[in-house]
Amino acid sequence: MEPIIKLEGINLYYDKGKPTEVWALKDVALEINKGEYCAFFGPSGCGKTTILYVLSGMESERVSSGQVLINGRDIAKFTKRELAVFRQIGVGIVFQQFNLIPSISVLDNVALPMAFLGISLERRRAEAQKLLERLNIAPYANRLPSELSGGQQQRVGIARALANNPPIIICDEPLGNLDSENANKVLEFMKELNTKDGRTVIMVTHEAWSLRDARKIFYMKDGKILKVEEPKESGDVAQAVSKLMYKQLNPNMGENQIMAKSLADLLLRGYSASEVKRFEFFLLQRLSGNIDEDVFREVLDRAYRNGGVGLWKGKAAKISFLVEGVMSQRHTIEQVHEVLEKNPEAPLAEEIQKVRRWLLEEYKGKMDEQQILRLDELIGERVRNIITPQNFEQILNLSKGKFGLGISMRSSNRMAEKLESILGGSEGVAKSMKL
Ligand code: ADP
Ligand code: MG
Repeated sequence: MEPIIKLEGINLYYDKGKPTEVWALKDVALEINKGEYCAFFGPSGCGKTTILYVLSGMESERVSSGQVLINGRDIAKFTKRELAVFRQIGVGIVFQQFNLIPSISVLDNVALPMAFLGISLERRRAEAQKLLERLNIAPYANRLPSELSGGQQQRVGIARALANNPPIIICDEPLGNLDSENANKVLEFMKELNTKDGRTVIMVTHEAWSLRDARKIFYMKDGKILKVEEPKESGDVAQAVSKLMYKQLNPNMGENQIMAKSLADLLLRGYSASEVKRFEFFLLQRLSGNIDEDVFREVLDRAYRNGGVGLWKGKAAKISFLVEGVMSQRHTIEQVHEVLEKNPEAPLAEEIQKVRRWLLEEYKGKMDEQQILRLDELIGERVRNIITPQNFEQILNLSKGKFGLGISMRSSNRMAEKLESILGGSEGVAKSMKL
């Protein structure tokens, strides 16, 4: 089947020939199929909005080379009338700034696009009313847009985009001005439009978590499409996105390599450069799963001249123990990040309980149910970076009467450092090893 939208070799310039010239799209080629939920993801200024204009037929004049094919037909060959029909009925666009007309009612804003089809005002209003109902904003029909909250205005914007029942819905950063609850509602609705109504949804965003429902992601940078990914599930989306961002930050290093490097320096502070290098090598092997825990401990302990790191037995055991802890918990923290990327308000209960059990492994004291609940809450706040490591430690130590946990200063300190050791805070690792 023909893709519903296909771009071939698109180049587009703003201010062509002027000193302010911008080459906004560079050899862009892509295909979007009917019924797909796809997304453009990339930093501000990379050309996302420009691409939306091109594929909705609104920037035809500026395109300097390449083709836009709608259902296999070159848009440059559309008659004026056909182009107008495609823009008015073929696509519905939802904007970040809502773009509602301030002087007319909510109902009339939604009814307006239908005027193009020559439908009577009465029928337009009736249709618009139905759309407002579908978006749960019917009670505000007769208000002016300015009398609605941001979330409600965005729902009016969506209703208007649906007015002529377009098969393609385009959203240009629709969540930018919304709080997380309203942002979630919009995403849910877009998903419904895609799965229940079978519409093609094209989402533009620069927030990774809002990509969760996209099953084709175009990564953009400097006017180019760097990469296309087709994740099967939401989990894959979060993973793919965080991997890509990580690689962009450290283009020449793998994740384990970076981890090995930072841990090696910390754990072997004061050792010679050659010892640290060798340690780093074995650490990378362990982190990558090439050697198991026993082999790792053995090479740490083995004499340097025999190819080992040459640590004394006690130290080798201690370091090995710490590395195993970091490894198993690091996995958990990655999961936490994934969940957070998908939904910043996610409760994370399971991951937090895992971390809490690990934190309490060496804790000798007893904790009642109240303290456990408070501890989980605290871990959550720390993981989300709502409180600092110092706050975390202080609250552990604070008396129960003051809404703390009433844990001794020494245990509070230990627990806080242990938690930091898996949150990527390298200082925590050094301190918890007392190096
Ligand atoms: P994004 O939506 O990803 O933030 P845009 O498509 O809006 O990116 O912009 C891509 C590039 O084109 C940017 O460098 C931007 O400054 C430039 N640009 C966008 N619109 C215009 C315009 N009307 N005139 C001149 N330059 C523009
Ligand atoms: Mg934009």
